[in-house]
Amino acid sequence: MLLSRYPINTSKETPSEAEIVSHQLMLRAGLIRRVAAGIYSWLPLGLRTLRKVETIVREEMDRAGALELLMPAIQPAELWQESGRWNVYGPELLRLTDRHERAFVVGPTHEEVVTDIARRELRSYRQLPVNFYQIQLKFRDEVRPRFGVMRAREFIMKDAYSFHLNESSLAEGYAAMRSAYARMFRRMGLEFRIVQADTGAIGGTASEEFQVLAESGEDAIAVSDADDYAANLELAPALTPPQLRPAPRETLERISTPGVRTIAEISALTGVPPERCLKTLIVAGTEAPVALVLRGDHELNATKAQKLPGVAQPLRMASAAEIQAATGTLPGSIGPRGLDGIAIWADQAAIGAVDFVCGANEVDWHLRGVNWGRDLPEPPAADLRNVIAGDPSPSGRGTLRIVRGIEVGHIFQLGRKYSEALGATVLDESGAAVPLMMGCYGIGVTRIVAAAIEQNHDERGIIWPDPIAPFHVVLVPLNLQKSARVREVADELYRQIGEAGIEVLYDDRDERPGVKFADAELLGIGHRIVISERGLASGTLEYRHRRAAESEQIRREDILDYLQKRLQR
Ligand code: ATP
Ligand code: MG
Repeated sequence: MLLSRYPINTSKETPSEAEIVSHQLMLRAGLIRRVAAGIYSWLPLGLRTLRKVETIVREEMDRAGALELLMPAIQPAELWQESGRWNVYGPELLRLTDRHERAFVVGPTHEEVVTDIARRELRSYRQLPVNFYQIQLKFRDEVRPRFGVMRAREFIMKDAYSFHLNESSLAEGYAAMRSAYARMFRRMGLEFRIVQADTGAIGGTASEEFQVLAESGEDAIAVSDADDYAANLELAPALTPPQLRPAPRETLERISTPGVRTIAEISALTGVPPERCLKTLIVAGTEAPVALVLRGDHELNATKAQKLPGVAQPLRMASAAEIQAATGTLPGSIGPRGLDGIAIWADQAAIGAVDFVCGANEVDWHLRGVNWGRDLPEPPAADLRNVIAGDPSPSGRGTLRIVRGIEVGHIFQLGRKYSEALGATVLDESGAAVPLMMGCYGIGVTRIVAAAIEQNHDERGIIWPDPIAPFHVVLVPLNLQKSARVREVADELYRQIGEAGIEVLYDDRDERPGVKFADAELLGIGHRIVISERGLASGTLEYRHRRAAESEQIRREDILDYLQKRLQR
């Protein structure tokens, strides 16, 4: 491809400071252009990478025995009414009406359509297991589309749905998808973790996410430093090593704390470290509000807390009026001692605290030297907090680190939710009709491109992993328009490299060397060859890898062999 035909550094859109690097780089390098909020066009260079990602995904799905099909983007409302999601799916679901006043949706996902196919096409256990997949546009009217194609409204997903007679077959199909996904991301050259995920409201048994590690990732992940344990922060259990609580040393004291609200303030005032300043959060309950007690240096974990009996789901903080009605106390200096009328749960780590500081249930007053068992009853223990770096790994090996990731894939054992709702059954060996067991498996194909950049860039631009780079090699001839010799060698190389099956981009623009070098780095193609009068005078070309600090001089006649060797690595 000739670079002179290409829009580079021409984007009119400058994403705000808060936007992430991959979005800025995708705009500057001319990979995508915004059409409307969360809706993008893919320009030729971006599309080349997108197609490479798709190809790897497709090859690994096929290798795992999945069957590709293509379902419509527009789906009839009737299917969504049958599954029950017509009423529960919120404003993310784009609904529309045709000229006959019939209701449709633009598919955010395809469980309904694929289950409809299954109930028509699958009759017997002999047709199972089967896995149908597609690479298709999805539309989700996200509240906050942002970061370009990372969280778009229209995006491309690879979605797969497997159908099974029983749970053991589903578990096998799930394991096959899990290893196919791992192979795909490895082939793309991405560093990722397979992370235990919350099965959320849909239920189901097993669910894991594939997370590409990047500092800007939206998801916090707890990983072990000793094995491949990884879990979403919401899910990682906090193991507090069992320890004997030392005996109390202080006596209970009531202290005046005018205006003091935060843990930092109370810790500074009392000189007691935050781990011995307990905070009491009042959350809404199914009947009455519930008090949750944590160490001041720990954070409440909503996913864990909302699973406690008596706590309202989804978790929300109780209002001042609710707190006052239930406890007779004004919010401000709440503490577990003397907090009558409501249930109290304490995090395991907070139960280990001695001589602690907490609210006195009286505005502008706190207590210090407080001890469980002595000054107030031992509370029921629960795991209420987020894990922090240094906590023991739930795998039993090593300690945890918190890293950030971008969710690029999600695999899920769904069970019978959709097959039961839509009546998708097959006849088993005994001739009885049984509802199908289902698994579903998604990959954010367009998001992968952004995630790959987020993980692989420097201050000068993108650094593509070879397998998904839009081109393998970029040719940078200097003074092309002035030097007939440079022009001749560059044209010849362009042809020769191309004929060898290596994808090559030719910077045929009449630009200064500095501009050409900067753009080659921005575009992030791994292997760069510079053709100059000076090099040619000694029979050499200059080769440089995008990650390398130094260039190498390669003889003109050796360059093809050299490139082929570099590309095999
Ligand atoms: P997220 O938590 O990021 O909103 P999700 O859990 O809703 O994603 P799934 O329903 O699991 O997404 O969809 C499968 C995959 O599709 C995700 O793992 C992600 O890679 C991709 N994806 C989901 N929403 C978007 C979006 N708005 N833009 C781009 N890709 C997306
Ligand atoms: Mg998901």
